[in-house]
Amino acid sequence: MPDQHIYRGRFAPSPTGPLHLGSVFTALASYLQARSCNGKWLLRIDDLDTPRNIKGSVDSILRTLDNLGLYWDESVAFQSQSIDYYHEILDRLNKDKRIYPCRCSRKVQTTARYTGFCRDNQFNLDIPHAYRVKTDGSVISFIDELQGSMIYPIDEQGDFVLKRKDQIIAYQFAVVVDDHLQMVNHVVRGYDLLDSTPRQLYLQKLLGFKTPVYMHVPVIIDDAGYKLSKQTKALPVDLIKSNDVIFGVLLLLKQNPPNGLQRATVTALLDWAVAHWNPMALKSCKAINNECLT
Ligand code: GLU
Repeated sequence: MPDQHIYRGRFAPSPTGPLHLGSVFTALASYLQARSCNGKWLLRIDDLDTPRNIKGSVDSILRTLDNLGLYWDESVAFQSQSIDYYHEILDRLNKDKRIYPCRCSRKVQTTARYTGFCRDNQFNLDIPHAYRVKTDGSVISFIDELQGSMIYPIDEQGDFVLKRKDQIIAYQFAVVVDDHLQMVNHVVRGYDLLDSTPRQLYLQKLLGFKTPVYMHVPVIIDDAGYKLSKQTKALPVDLIKSNDVIFGVLLLLKQNPPNGLQRATVTALLDWAVAHWNPMALKSCKAINNECLT
């Protein structure tokens, strides 16, 4: 049983392609935060959204992290190994009437506040349906280590999906269960996930799980202002020399690595970065333009 008092952080990439600069930015931030707290840094592959998974990505992600000297602790976790456990929890929530089947269209599910239309709508369960959690009027508040105090009425998004109509376990639910299973107590991830956090806090409370400490780091954007991603054709980092990647990402992280380290090995760079890690350089920052490596 891992020691709960020790910092346990994680990096949780989805296997949708090779790691690009934006994902390495998040990986390095979470790695440095964990290592500078003498903590564990775990790796989880978020592989539930099977239509988006790309063959070969897991190997490529592990190889890239290895080449960058970002060694993780414990064995790699895969969400797909917890499918039975997610269903066990869903069955329990269903019995307790905390979730309900919903056959509303995807458009209603993702673009608007869900009005609860299916809460009392009995229908034949042979019809494809999702499962939504009943939300109440509570106001969720938490302090993000970089973005400050967040206050969020859960009602703003309404009842949200825990299991999708295509039978895939939804991100909001999976991530809460995974962080609990891995006993993660610190989450460092991209700013784009900040508005998911209140829903995750809501679920943690419902399930009696502990809430980790959150730090949402800026996302890296291109010149057109778009978040680097596979969709925006971000360059895989394994095309760039590993020490140049780490040096460049340390610049993006506003850590000011000394010029003398430009030719240093990744080990020397990471040792320096752990010793000098100052996440507050990113305080209140939401996005950073990728001006260091292209
Ligand atoms: N798998 C998610 C992603 O690649 C990250 C999940 C999380 O950090 O909560 O964006």
